[in-house]
Amino acid sequence: MQGAILVLSGPSGAGKSTIINHASPNIGEYYFSISTTTRQPREGEEHGVDYYFVTHEEFEEGIKAGDFLEYATVHGNYYGTSLKPVNEALAQGKLVIFDIDVQGHRLVRAKMGDYVTSAFITPPTLKELEKRLYARATDDTSIIERRIENAKEEINAIGEFDFVIINDVIEEASSQFTTIANAARLKQNREELEKMVLHWRN
Ligand code: ADP
Ligand code: 5GP
Repeated sequence: MQGAILVLSGPSGAGKSTIINHASPNIGEYYFSISTTTRQPREGEEHGVDYYFVTHEEFEEGIKAGDFLEYATVHGNYYGTSLKPVNEALAQGKLVIFDIDVQGHRLVRAKMGDYVTSAFITPPTLKELEKRLYARATDDTSIIERRIENAKEEINAIGEFDFVIINDVIEEASSQFTTIANAARLKQNREELEKMVLHWRN
């Protein structure tokens, strides 16, 4: 039994968390990779549920210790994916879902491309993104402005992804996500294919 990785990227406010939550009952058993970050928790966010919230020093100790599969600086804070729980979930044959930025996607693809399926999630327009970020009301105006500027950069990486989901109507986006999650589980890695070829030869 082999596991698989599904990377989701897209501007902050695109609806990644909303889509995962909405599709959750329909995508079978999966492990959501909880990232570590140096950013401040938003109201309602919990340590160990949404993120592991750590100090700058703690994060840099983690880097030195080789704890991260990938890490990047996003909007001025460190964000990283811990290697150990991901390897454990893959060994158990689970679908591992990452919500990481486009830099993280590049790093994970370079290291574990054989296992990776990826989707870029975007709202229909930049104006709609702005509207959703203000409506979410979890960040100050200056932070929202920074996220919108970042979104203009991130969209340039859209061509690096296997799939694109335009999150206009949540039900449709969630159904597309379910299809992609099922396809990710079916992706065969090279090792599996080589085994199959050997089996046919012998
Ligand atoms: P992300 O995880 O990508 O940062 P969120 O899932 O937090 O984004 O979504 C940002 C905001 O947009 C939330 O307030 C959410 O309720 C809202 N939202 C998400 N999808 C839709 C949609 N299809 N239509 C309208 N609002 C949406
Ligand atoms: P937010 O602060 O809105 O939760 O996340 C900001 C951005 O950081 C999002 O684009 C999100 O996908 C990205 N991000 C979250 N965790 C990680 C991670 O572990 N690694 C990388 N590279 N990006 C992450």
